[in-house]
Amino acid sequence: MANKQDKCSFCGRPATRLFMGEDPGVCICPECVESGHRMVQEMIAQQAKGKTKDLSLDTLPKPQDIKAFLDQYVIGQDEAKKYLSVAVYNHYKRILQPKDDNGVEIEKSNIVMVGSTGTGKTLMARTIAKMLKVPFTIVDATVLTEAGYVGEDVESILVRLLQEANFDVEQTERGIVFIDEIDKIARKSDNPSITRDVSGEGVQQGLLKLLEGSVVNVPPKGGRKHPEQEFIKIDTQNILFICGGAFDGIERKIAQRLNTQVVGFNASVSARKIDKHNMLKYIAPQDLKSFGLIPEIIGRLPILTYLEPLDREALRRILIEPKNSITKQYQKLLEMDNVKLTFTDDALDYIVDKAIEFKLGARGLRSLTETIMMSIMYDIPTSDFTITKEFAEQQLEKADSLRLQQAC
Ligand code: ADP
Repeated sequence: MANKQDKCSFCGRPATRLFMGEDPGVCICPECVESGHRMVQEMIAQQAKGKTKDLSLDTLPKPQDIKAFLDQYVIGQDEAKKYLSVAVYNHYKRILQPKDDNGVEIEKSNIVMVGSTGTGKTLMARTIAKMLKVPFTIVDATVLTEAGYVGEDVESILVRLLQEANFDVEQTERGIVFIDEIDKIARKSDNPSITRDVSGEGVQQGLLKLLEGSVVNVPPKGGRKHPEQEFIKIDTQNILFICGGAFDGIERKIAQRLNTQVVGFNASVSARKIDKHNMLKYIAPQDLKSFGLIPEIIGRLPILTYLEPLDREALRRILIEPKNSITKQYQKLLEMDNVKLTFTDDALDYIVDKAIEFKLGARGLRSLTETIMMSIMYDIPTSDFTITKEFAEQQLEKADSLRLQQAC
């Protein structure tokens, strides 16, 4: 420590406590140490998030690379993966397009994914963001309300993205937003003028502003806007919006449309064999309109794709194949305790059967496996361990099935 007259070599302020450097003339005060520490932490966080500033047309992964990356984490859903890969590739090509490109303006390719809950919509959006190292946030459309009503304004979406990007505006403006449950803000009635539809059409109108690309004033700390507050301006022009929703019952609207086509003037459709078990594959923008999305929103979501329901085989693959599958995660955890963990085939089948029986889908695989693994994670085995069907059965019997269902 130095004596009282000394000044910090960094801020120049006199300080009672100073840390001396190698060179006796150089010292630093505790405040500067602290702020230096903060700056280093911020730098590390920034690096960990990666920078799209490094993205260039040469380094931008091609659609096939994006799909191959998705294949490592997401099982099946080939159609959706291809649509998503192309849309994301085009989106970033559009951002990286030279300014003076003889006037050809590439339009934004926001995406809407239709598919039952737990089929991998969020997982896909999250995985793409991970690959591109761009800020990513998920928002639930059900919490959004029209400005002035109780709930979150649509601008809150950008606040979250800004936070994800560590308040770097440039990064934020190239991020990806996943809007979940977009179907829940569908217009409730076909006649928009009867009553004000606080949770439906008003929110769609608010979202429209973000989707089509505009400069939005964002209160950096979130919360309600008030006049004295300072705003950050975010241009949503280059933010990619991916929307997802289960659109329960939309199959009926698709079927109705296809039927009218068959009966009506487009008789050739009757020749085509309709796969009644997966009507979603015929989804078209007009079905979203019949469901209650306003045409302007549909127009701003030009890429429409669907997810397949997950069958038994897909669920089984989800348990073991993805790069960070739940079984691999437990194997890794126990490997750190020098225990080799194995699952027998019939134990895996059993977990899948239970997920189907409880109607828990892919989300249930995690909670079921967690319940089965609980006692082992607590009493770490002293030697290698095999999860058999009998062991899995015993563990689940001990657990309350109701609690299990609620956990998903
Ligand atoms: P949603 O379609 O409702 O957005 P999610 O993507 O959140 O569903 O899926 C929930 C969880 O289920 C994921 O975190 C993942 O563990 C698992 N999952 C769902 N679908 C798949 C899939 N196709 N491949 C791998 N895992 C999946």
